[in-house]
Amino acid sequence: MQKQVYLDYSASTPTDERVVEAMMPYFSEVFGNPSSPHGYGRKAEQAVEDARESIARVLHCKPNEVIFTSGGSESDNLAIRGIAMKAKQNGKQGALITSPIEHSAVSRTIKDLHQVYGFEMAQVAVDPKGVVDISHFEALLSHPTTLVSVMYANNEIGTLQDITLLAKMTKQQGAYFHTDAVQGAGQLPLNVDVLGVDAMSLSGHKFYAPKGVGVLYLREGVDLLPIQSGGSHEQGRRAGTLNTAFIVGMAKALTLAQEEQETRVAHYTQLRKQLVDGILAYVPNAILTGHPEQRLPSHASFIFDGIDGNQLVMHMDMRGVAASSASACKTGNPEPSDILLALGYSKEMALGSLRFSVGMPTTENDIERAVKATKEAVEALLTLKRMLT
Ligand SMILES: *Cc1c(COP(=O)(O)O)cnc(C)c1O
Repeated sequence: MQKQVYLDYSASTPTDERVVEAMMPYFSEVFGNPSSPHGYGRKAEQAVEDARESIARVLHCKPNEVIFTSGGSESDNLAIRGIAMKAKQNGKQGALITSPIEHSAVSRTIKDLHQVYGFEMAQVAVDPKGVVDISHFEALLSHPTTLVSVMYANNEIGTLQDITLLAKMTKQQGAYFHTDAVQGAGQLPLNVDVLGVDAMSLSGHKFYAPKGVGVLYLREGVDLLPIQSGGSHEQGRRAGTLNTAFIVGMAKALTLAQEEQETRVAHYTQLRKQLVDGILAYVPNAILTGHPEQRLPSHASFIFDGIDGNQLVMHMDMRGVAASSASACKTGNPEPSDILLALGYSKEMALGSLRFSVGMPTTENDIERAVKATKEAVEALLTLKRMLT
């Protein structure tokens, strides 16, 4: 049996061995509660504060602007709910502007604030490659706005946004700007001053740290209402005992991601080219989705017209390749991805989506096998379909 080829790094990455090693002392040796005043606690607190400083160095921010969370979903919720509800409390309940291609942690949060708490919401148009329409954005911003949330890099189609420009336009109108940068760490610049953002979400398990730990960068002076009450951890912004080991691991992973960014990006870009060229050359009915150049180096996404993406993922898995489809399968009834619909694809086409994302361990041989498996799986499904109709 050949080893399985994993091409789903946008869903999750393995924890880097160097990260595991950095975490080890903080499980049973330095186990004190970082909030405790005794020696055990102070040692843990020191580790957490060192981690906060390393993360602040990568983000070019102050350590007190780094809030530790349980991951990307929580960071998105804390930024959006926290800032929106604080504005509501202050009697300044402006609109929430977002894009139609956000991760559900952003889109469902904003929908909830709209439906339950009465916030006005607006979605800025995107072009067929998933790039935000700047003149539409400008028009939306002319209405009183509390917060804009637009993602840095899209997880389904890989498209990147010009966050610096969007944040600048937002600030000129006196609103706050949040970005979900979860897919960007290790591949894109994360300097919050260059980006000009007020809040930014990161998730450890997307950059070779463990699952269940994340960061919310929150610019000094931006107030939020905590969404989880309890102790006064994280300066009263997020209650709950800090996960020392995972925080140490995440800081190590982010530091490595920055140090190795150039080599990682070069490696990913080369593999992505091989993958895109191979799929478009050899696999029938293949369409590249998202932006051909302005996209995550590690990411290639396709539609195979006339194919069911969920079935394709299963057939690929049988051929030893792990990829993912954007369409959800709810009790045998496939649901197309809202993101692909927002780009203008029909429901039928959107059901045929497949995403590959490469990582540090991916090799050229893996890509060769993936192209071959995709070709075989698509051809098998097309033959099956012809026989049934
Ligand atoms: C994975 C992901 C999230 C969610 O992060 P979790 O840590 O898994 O909660 C949010 N946004 C984007 C773009 C993601 O890719």
